[in-house]
Amino acid sequence: MIGCSCEVCTSANKKDNRLRSSIMVETAETTIVVDTTPDFRYQMLRLGVKKVDAIIFTHPHKDHMAGLDDVRSFNFITQKPMEVYCNYLTEEALRRDFYYAFSDTKYPGVPEINLHTITDKAFKINDLTIQPILVWHLKMPVLGFRFGPFTYITDANQIEEDQKEKIRGSKVMVLNALRKEKHISHYNLEEAIALVQELEVPEAYFTHISHQLGLHDEIESELPEGIHLGYDGLTLQL
Ligand SMILES: [Zn+2]
Ligand SMILES: [Zn+2]
Repeated sequence: MIGCSCEVCTSANKKDNRLRSSIMVETAETTIVVDTTPDFRYQMLRLGVKKVDAIIFTHPHKDHMAGLDDVRSFNFITQKPMEVYCNYLTEEALRRDFYYAFSDTKYPGVPEINLHTITDKAFKINDLTIQPILVWHLKMPVLGFRFGPFTYITDANQIEEDQKEKIRGSKVMVLNALRKEKHISHYNLEEAIALVQELEVPEAYFTHISHQLGLHDEIESELPEGIHLGYDGLTLQL
């Protein structure tokens, strides 16, 4: 957190040092990134990512969207537009915030984007089948995504029963858990643990963690079996 000198923000433990929430999903043929955060450029540089086939968006909040301009580098490498999948709400925001990428007369070098509107129906990107899960971020509809045995949900604090059915049977789940205190639009730690247990997902990692949650190692040691805090650079093989 800019300007903060709390014990988390000043911690020497790398796991307390977080950029904004995002994941990359790779199969033999396909690489996709979920959300382009304001840190997207650095996240790609840090991992040395050479290829991204598509971006999919959860919701149009700035901390999940702001980095889209930097898909320009991938346009340059592939000489193709970036395939972008999002719901109508995110599409509206992308067209507004990145208006210059959608104008009829484009300045040379602006990001090239090919938009696909998605709903909560399953879709495919090459060999990757993606099942969107509709979740609620206070009153904003947000998309979580299930990729076979793996489910990713960020920025939620409510999920309806029919959508919970889409999550059941996952082997691994990533879920947002902001802090211990209650929050208006995010699950807190207790609520996130309760949801993982209710859905009987055997392995879970929490994301979208605030500095208010506390030190990684301390919180990690308090969590039930199978539940962990996520951290930057965490890699899961499924
Ligand atoms: Zn802090
Ligand atoms: Zn949000």
